[in-house]
Amino acid sequence: MSHMLIIGGGLAGGTAAEALREEGFDGDITIVAAEPHPPYQRPPLSKGYLAGSEGMDAVILHPADWYAERGIRLVSGVAATALDPAAHTVQLADGSGLHYDTVLLATGATPRMIPLPGHELPGVMTLRRLDDSQTLAAELRGGGRRLVVIGAGWIGMEVAATARGFGNEVAILERDDVPLAAALGPEMGEVFRTLHLEHGVDLRTSVAVERITGSDRADGVVVDGETLPADLVLIGVGAAPDTALAEAAGLDILNGVLTDAALRTSAPDVYAAGDVANPFHPVLQRHLRSEHWANALNAGKVAARAMLGMPASFDDIPYFYTDQYDLGMELSGYAPLMADAELVIRGDLAAREFVAFWVDAADSSGRGRVVAGMNVNVWDVNETVQSLIRSGERVDAERLRDGDVPLDSL
Ligand code: FAD
Repeated sequence: MSHMLIIGGGLAGGTAAEALREEGFDGDITIVAAEPHPPYQRPPLSKGYLAGSEGMDAVILHPADWYAERGIRLVSGVAATALDPAAHTVQLADGSGLHYDTVLLATGATPRMIPLPGHELPGVMTLRRLDDSQTLAAELRGGGRRLVVIGAGWIGMEVAATARGFGNEVAILERDDVPLAAALGPEMGEVFRTLHLEHGVDLRTSVAVERITGSDRADGVVVDGETLPADLVLIGVGAAPDTALAEAAGLDILNGVLTDAALRTSAPDVYAAGDVANPFHPVLQRHLRSEHWANALNAGKVAARAMLGMPASFDDIPYFYTDQYDLGMELSGYAPLMADAELVIRGDLAAREFVAFWVDAADSSGRGRVVAGMNVNVWDVNETVQSLIRSGERVDAERLRDGDVPLDSL
């Protein structure tokens, strides 16, 4: 009987296992997961779970017995240490080995660390794992702590918002001149700067962090010569795809594990999905790696079909969401095309109730294509935004801006 092996117990791995059964596969499935939990998703770790408004049921995809009932073997708390694509074998950290017919690499990403003096002190952390979120929760939920976040990216900003909700003092230190500039560009980054300043965050941009101070525990961060006292330091400067296993196995790697649109890697019977994969995007005609929840969810399903030899192509428009204070946002679009696009706003920017569109170079009649769209505190438009992007049809910027023109009539 054929054996499907999944390495990584995150959203991509867990979803792929579920989809294999849903597609009718009745052979052996094993998930090898380095963390000691059933497969789980990460967005609540900086939001509801961290805040205590959501429990474990919002984090784990299914309880452990769900897998057992479906004949899916969970090997939790054990990392895969070597992959041999020619022999179709995987070695595990406990010394055991597994033979597979088809394997999915769903190893995710690892937070980047900046080698600042003091970064190894207790009290300096990153946030990726459930255990990290539990540590942060224990520190922040009582309030009255001083949190310094290094990096104004999504995770840092979300934790800052949650921490402020408990009355902690929060500073965010960012090297760029605008928060989230890499993800959203300067104008939309400013929306998030104002949001955090209004909620009492000491958000500083264009700063150089020099070191973290403390003898047996972090007690401050030196930034541009000034020491900010800290009870806790969170480093949120992005994540790198966890390609160690694939690299050692000789797979093609470039900003993640390279795959075709069916999520096949350069080695036979080896697939990759989620944060670790850099798939070829058939619409964009280039590789596009996405580190988002919806990517892991949907790529996991596509990988399952591809592993079963069914027609499969992953051409999703990247989708991301965030919740910070009273702001909810959804962003859909092709990030590589956003930098050169014109921003068109529909709605009330100052009130933070709007949809922003990124529109690429207009033709002679002033009509361009929507390459990305972000709805902020405006709901039930994401599907329309996605269809506008997918259609590739040219739209009139004035009509796009005009809130009286229904979006689906453009
Ligand atoms: P992961 O979830 O990283 O899972 C990979 C798993 O593989 C890990 O458990 C890892 O331990 C394991 N692993 C690695 N190597 C091995 C090995 N050799 N052997 C066995 N196991 C291994 N996205 C959004 O769109 N919206 C959000 O609001 C949002 N919030 C987020 C908040 C936080 C705090 C974080 C960390 C991420 C957030 N994301 C969000 C991103 C989203 O969670 C990720 O894109 C998603 O988790 C990727 O899933 P994955 O399955 O590819 O990888």
